[in-house]
Amino acid sequence: MKNPKSQQSNQTGVDEAVKQLHDAAAAKKCRHCGCLRSSLRAIEEAYPKSARPEALASIVELTCSRLSDVKYDCLGCKVCWPALAINALGVEGDACPSEAAESREGWPPLPGSYHVLRYHAPVAVCALTDESLSETVVSAAGTEIAIVGTMQTENLGIERLMQNTLANSNIRFVVLCGADSQQAIGHLPGQSLIALVRSGVDERMRIIGAQGKRPVLRNVSREAIEHFRRTVEIVDMIGETSVPHILDTAKACAARNPGPAEPFAGTRLVATVAGYLPERMISDPAGYFVVFPDCGRGLLMLEHYRNDGVLDVVIEGRAPAEMYIPAIEKSLVSRLDHAAYLGKELARAEQALLNGGSFVQDAAPEFQTVNEHSIKPSACGCGSSCGEDKHA
Ligand code: SF4
Repeated sequence: MKNPKSQQSNQTGVDEAVKQLHDAAAAKKCRHCGCLRSSLRAIEEAYPKSARPEALASIVELTCSRLSDVKYDCLGCKVCWPALAINALGVEGDACPSEAAESREGWPPLPGSYHVLRYHAPVAVCALTDESLSETVVSAAGTEIAIVGTMQTENLGIERLMQNTLANSNIRFVVLCGADSQQAIGHLPGQSLIALVRSGVDERMRIIGAQGKRPVLRNVSREAIEHFRRTVEIVDMIGETSVPHILDTAKACAARNPGPAEPFAGTRLVATVAGYLPERMISDPAGYFVVFPDCGRGLLMLEHYRNDGVLDVVIEGRAPAEMYIPAIEKSLVSRLDHAAYLGKELARAEQALLNGGSFVQDAAPEFQTVNEHSIKPSACGCGSSCGEDKHA
């Protein structure tokens, strides 16, 4: 890391580095970027405080004081001031960080710039460096797309994409689209990922055939790489920005989905819990509801009873949300399972109201299990019938 240029030839480099760091310090985007942090670390190591030229010391101090939480490793900007600064100083090392991100429970395990849409879908879309394309694809995506995001670097970016993909064996396709980075520091993450899938890595974990600046994978195992190459198909649409074309391609991929891959050993998959009914009823101390559609008036009706059987509130409205919001605000429901049950019954009553079908209020699931005879269906005057939820 330590290899600054000689003293004589250094002044021009220092002047240039100071100028570039001034721009970085002034840019809000850089304060959250891993590149600025890594570059400052490289400069501090190469120029210990005692040997740091004054102008450089003062701009490093100013820039450090403006650093904020790291929100991304590298934005892949066409001009990266910290990268130009370390180049000007002749400091060995890279502007972009190379440390692994800390994983967390759940999916995706690694943070990044993406939107999760549906865990069980088979297609991931990576818009490479094009944030706005990513946003547009998200807003138009169908049910076949699991996740949409960007990727900026040929090392950490690929590692994250690979690890997040391996942690969800439903994903069998990654559609690469949008612009690959063209900036001076030349990441080319898209070309590098395609090279990885085509040829793998060499003995130094360098992606064979990758043209990015530093396509070396340090934080994933060879086994993970091979599993990824074997189970995930990369669809090369680099440079494509037509959203309909991208979405059609995602649909075509889903149409030939081979189903979930064998999970990669060592990845923490999200646990699937089999649904079940409760073994015993737990009453809602706040009371119980009677739900019914009043077809004559085109309204949903909600009666709330205290547990001693006394009616205390009547709510009427045209949509479930108009009913459950006041019910919650008036503290007529105090248990989450009761609230969920109320939402379900209001939705059923709304369907009966809209379609003119009959409606019989279901017992609360606990009550069905424990004592089905406590439901008392009764006519509501429109052909539908209702029953107390007896969630009490
Ligand atoms: S890539 Fe460089 S210029 Fe862009 S935000 Fe990060 S540090 Fe700043």
